[in-house]
Amino acid sequence: MTVIEAQDVRKIYGDMEVLHDVGLAIREGEILGLIGPSGSGKSTLLRILDLIEPPSGGELSILGIDTVKERGRWLDLRRRMGMLFQRPIVFNASVYDNVAMGLRYRRASRSEIDRKVKEALEAVGLSRYIGSRATDLSGGEQQRVALSRVLVTDPEILFLDEPTANLDPGSTATIEAIVARMNRERGITVLISTHDLAQGQRLAHRIAVMIDGTVAQAGSPREIFHAPKDKKIARFVGVQNIIPARVISREGLTTVEVKERRIVSATPPPAEEVAVVIRGEDVSLHRREPGYEEAENLFPARVTAVEPMAPFVNVTVDCGCDIIALVTARRAEALELAAGMDVWVSLPAKVVHLVPRDG
Ligand code: ADP
Ligand code: MG
Repeated sequence: MTVIEAQDVRKIYGDMEVLHDVGLAIREGEILGLIGPSGSGKSTLLRILDLIEPPSGGELSILGIDTVKERGRWLDLRRRMGMLFQRPIVFNASVYDNVAMGLRYRRASRSEIDRKVKEALEAVGLSRYIGSRATDLSGGEQQRVALSRVLVTDPEILFLDEPTANLDPGSTATIEAIVARMNRERGITVLISTHDLAQGQRLAHRIAVMIDGTVAQAGSPREIFHAPKDKKIARFVGVQNIIPARVISREGLTTVEVKERRIVSATPPPAEEVAVVIRGEDVSLHRREPGYEEAENLFPARVTAVEPMAPFVNVTVDCGCDIIALVTARRAEALELAAGMDVWVSLPAKVVHLVPRDG
């Protein structure tokens, strides 16, 4: 089932169009990662989906309710959702009172509040701080207090807007583990925005990429990272090789030419003018010509640069065109890679992705 469906959603502030043509479907029980550069509209979209702000146009259905036609049901819908922001919001009161707040607002009984607050603090691992002043806690603990204030209300959909952007790696891992467990055990649908690509891959079942105010692509992490739809998405998801190419043949596999080098791709050409998109980690380097190699592309090459990027090494090779390979530091050492060295490059056709050259 789809719990949120947005179509052609727009948002205008003054004369600035911040969101346009936003289409997004969120499935019940999934964790959807919303990634995109800063300023691309992630927070604005989350505020609209959480009904904190109205869209300027478009269609938006939440939990089966048409929110444009049924404005009268917004409050009811809001109570079925929860949002956690980048900066932890805690009040200068006890941890207990901070978490109880969400329930008092909903007029729950005292014994119910007591039971639920204790459960929620247990879920985020903060039971021992129940009587502490929330503002005395560390940033990571404050974010867990804020998270338990949201969880105590049993939301069906949880929105997290870059919830770990200000946290250290340890606190980040704790928050991620809680979110993954709430999704798994309680079936809460999660939409989490992040500019941390690794976090998107760790947590999300599916990923949506926002570029310039719209959802440019949504799909599995594999699709987004290995088969981005265009150059902007490819650049954002950190593809090392985005190289203009000419289509030579489209019989069976596609053959393209990059400078002097012909490369075979499993992608049908998306346009007349294309660019080749290859992730550095998909490029294999060998000291000798491999005797047995299934890769459709196998070229002699010369190493032109070796650049440490712990725990990896960026290796640029010239095989008629420049290609960057991302190898582990350990493998670079085993191959004794150094500038000027002759190597072989192998590249299966399925890791050579094609996108339109424009855009
Ligand atoms: P992200 O969360 O991806 O960094 P935002 O949604 O915060 O992006 O912002 C997208 C764009 O909308 C930015 O250019 C930002 O300046 C603008 N924007 C966001 N909120 C407002 C607002 N209340 N008024 C005017 N412009 C806004
Ligand atoms: Mg933001």
